[in-house]
Amino acid sequence: MKPASFRYVAASDVHEAVTLLSAHGDAAKLLAGGQSLVPMMNLRLSRPEILIDLNRISGADGITVEDGALRVGMLARQRAAERADVVRTRLPLLGEAISRIGHTQIRSRGTLVGSCCHADPSAEIPCVLLALDGFVRAQGPDGMRDIPAADFFLGYFQTALSPKEVATDLFFPLPAAGTGWAFLEFARRHGDFAIVAVSALLRLSASGEIERAALSLSGVGPAPLRARRAEALLLEKRPDGALFAQAAREASQEIEPADDVQASAGYRRQLAQTLVGRALQEALARAAKEVA
Ligand SMILES: Cc1cc2nc3c(=O)[nH]c(=O)nc-3n(C[C@H](O)[C@H](O)[C@H](O)COP(=O)(O)OP(=O)(O)OC[C@H]3O[C@@H](n4cnc5c(N)ncnc54)[C@H](O)[C@@H]3O)c2cc1C
Repeated sequence: MKPASFRYVAASDVHEAVTLLSAHGDAAKLLAGGQSLVPMMNLRLSRPEILIDLNRISGADGITVEDGALRVGMLARQRAAERADVVRTRLPLLGEAISRIGHTQIRSRGTLVGSCCHADPSAEIPCVLLALDGFVRAQGPDGMRDIPAADFFLGYFQTALSPKEVATDLFFPLPAAGTGWAFLEFARRHGDFAIVAVSALLRLSASGEIERAALSLSGVGPAPLRARRAEALLLEKRPDGALFAQAAREASQEIEPADDVQASAGYRRQLAQTLVGRALQEALARAAKEVA
């Protein structure tokens, strides 16, 4: 199918994009990599009257470290981040998660910011942003604001952005040295969206107790979710198989999966429990290696 007809404008900077959004409101859509928006337009699930192309804005594709966080500009492609040395060395969790998105061709156009703004509940990048307590920087007619990931993803394809705001950057706080990590997902075929995905971070104190635990899951409800009760259960305890099994059970009870064509809610719950248990073991192995 072809999209319904629309007007096309290429914004030359963020200010122009915000001005156009303010003038056209809900009738306008921003175009980044187009890997979610264009298929939706072709299927006429989205029918913007005006398409505001961000791709001509220069200097918006940076992937840099700033104030202890990885800053990713709105035009940084997923593939560029996956291959960036700074991601490989400072935030391999993100590189691993991106490598599970669709196929190379999709990652070569799709942006990290676009993925967060699209807010598919099974997406990988929002899951990582949430685990790291990251945030989204947005520019609107009234200025700039930073929106914590925990407040950004509101539900199925819904975010806290107003229709007049452009998301300009993502900030992924870099974990302290010695933090173990894991990203695991299960999809029906290579390149498919995850049925369930899990990001895990674990750091041990000098005396061997867990001093940081972060667990986030995608594909288990209307938005990515932090398993806060499971995290609390892990803190200040010595890691072992029984503790991880208990935390994995707890995580599977605090998610809100629904039945759909891919899987039943019960299957997702079981899968979440299995993946959380494995992710904790993997994160621990990396944490222990870092400490040794
Ligand atoms: C076959 C296929 C398989 C895929 N598999 C996966 C997968 O396994 N996992 C996964 O996570 N994704 C997957 N995707 C989606 C892919 O990751 C997209 O690239 C991503 O979801 C959207 O990024 P984009 O840059 O293409 O955004 P676009 O498609 O251009 O935009 C998506 C939405 O975000 C809005 N938007 C974009 N940029 C901004 C901005 N700066 N500020 C405010 N709003 C903005 C747009 O207006 C639009 O509503 C797949 C896509 C395809 C086609």
